[in-house]
Amino acid sequence: VKHHLQVVLLGLRDEPRLPLGAGLYALLSYVGVGLLIPRVAAHSGPLKSAALLRDFDATSMIGHGLMLFCITLMAVASARRGQAVRRLSLRDGLTGLANRQVFDACLSNEAERARRSGMPLSIAMIDVDFFKSLNDTYGHAFGDEVLRWIARRLRESFRSTDLVARYGGEEFVVVFIDSADDHLIRRLDALRERIARTEFHPGQSADPVRVTVSVGVGSWPADAHDVRTTLAVADERLYLAKGAGRNRVVAASPR
Ligand code: GH3
Ligand code: MG
Ligand code: MG
Repeated sequence: VKHHLQVVLLGLRDEPRLPLGAGLYALLSYVGVGLLIPRVAAHSGPLKSAALLRDFDATSMIGHGLMLFCITLMAVASARRGQAVRRLSLRDGLTGLANRQVFDACLSNEAERARRSGMPLSIAMIDVDFFKSLNDTYGHAFGDEVLRWIARRLRESFRSTDLVARYGGEEFVVVFIDSADDHLIRRLDALRERIARTEFHPGQSADPVRVTVSVGVGSWPADAHDVRTTLAVADERLYLAKGAGRNRVVAASPR
């Protein structure tokens, strides 16, 4: 019963390997005990021996083994479902990037860490230009395809320690942890240029389409006294980039 309960409880965690391991361990122990019983019974008195052989006869051993096996399967299935639900609640369904909730939580963490360690941090807000007209002209499915493509480029362009998230519809955000230098602006600009150079094909008959993005960057502690305000600065500069003609990175406010 202790083993059964343990497997069931582990099935409530979001990691299928836990109930699988516990279930297999319990099954093996049970088989081991089954093999030992005849020997233990042979060395016991007649009364104890009869009780042991009755409690551990073949039918009840098989019944218990099967039950343990089923419980393990159910616990593994439940843990896998938990894992899938957790994944859905953390990732954006279209692009697979971290979603807004994860971004907000991470930003609070990073704000705290930056405050404690004094390590610089930069935030880039990236917005696709004239995306509404792209959707209106070529349809939402094509728009979705473009968003997924941009998300993949974002993920592969930055370090795994940088947080890349989908901020909203056609807006993405990247948090560069412990970095606030010119190199970062060059990397963002290279990405912007790569996106602008790429031809998308909305259909066989239609001409290829190009898409551009505008980017606003804010850095802590250079631009703001806290990380939340840095995000607002990045957003302000994104709108400056839009106003200045789009397809550009704005990383400093006009003096
Ligand atoms: P701007 O250059 O000023 O950013 O213009 P814009 O057209 O990109 O901006 P606007 O905010 O007017 O339009 C954003 C559009 O993005 C409108 C909305 O339908 C579209 N959108 C938001 N989320 C999705 C999505 O998941 N898939 C698709 N295909 N479109 C989306
Ligand atoms: Mg937008
Ligand atoms: Mg836009």
